[in-house]
Amino acid sequence: MKIHLSQYAGFCFGVKRAVRIAHEHLKKDKDIYIIEDIVHNRYVSEKLKKEGIKKVKDVEDIPKKNSFLINAHGVAKAIYEKAKKRDLKIIDTTCPIVKNIHKKAVDLEKEGYRVIIIGDRDHAETQGILGNVKEGIVIERVKDLGKIKNIPSKIGCISQSTQDIENVASIIHELVKKAEEVKFIKTICKEIEKRQEEIKKLSKKT
Ligand code: SF4
Repeated sequence: MKIHLSQYAGFCFGVKRAVRIAHEHLKKDKDIYIIEDIVHNRYVSEKLKKEGIKKVKDVEDIPKKNSFLINAHGVAKAIYEKAKKRDLKIIDTTCPIVKNIHKKAVDLEKEGYRVIIIGDRDHAETQGILGNVKEGIVIERVKDLGKIKNIPSKIGCISQSTQDIENVASIIHELVKKAEEVKFIKTICKEIEKRQEEIKKLSKKT
């Protein structure tokens, strides 16, 4: 078997940044709580755990006044509010690119668009974006459009940063047939786009 290693293999900028910030804080604080893993890598997660990272299910489970680290995927507004109520020290490592998606979604809503997020429904990033707008809709695949009873006339569409461009394009293609106005802001992360292109190139080599 021949293994091709992509030149983009490894953690993305946002995850590397989150791990770096976690390490910096662990030098002065030995109890840092998380509700989502900082990185989806068992080796790094175990190492962080040994250094003092503690995973809990909910912000409510974090002892008051302790440190709460938000990972690169970001969280819903309600989670920030809960953390503030518990007087937690928030270490926000939300990737700046994801923060920008939150801002774009909020701006679309302010402009009067109904926000549609193209993303994996259960993914933390999608939930974070959804939780930053008042009334967003999540669409994973074209077939999900059939489940929406009344397609809003004015749609503002963005996507989770790691979405596949082909999937996004196919959903937009259908939305423009159904709505009066569709404003699409491309929010796919450039690093992810390069990875997707590389995968296509590598798959042709095999
Ligand atoms: S937006 Fe890009 S760099 Fe940031 S966390 Fe997502 S994939 Fe990583």
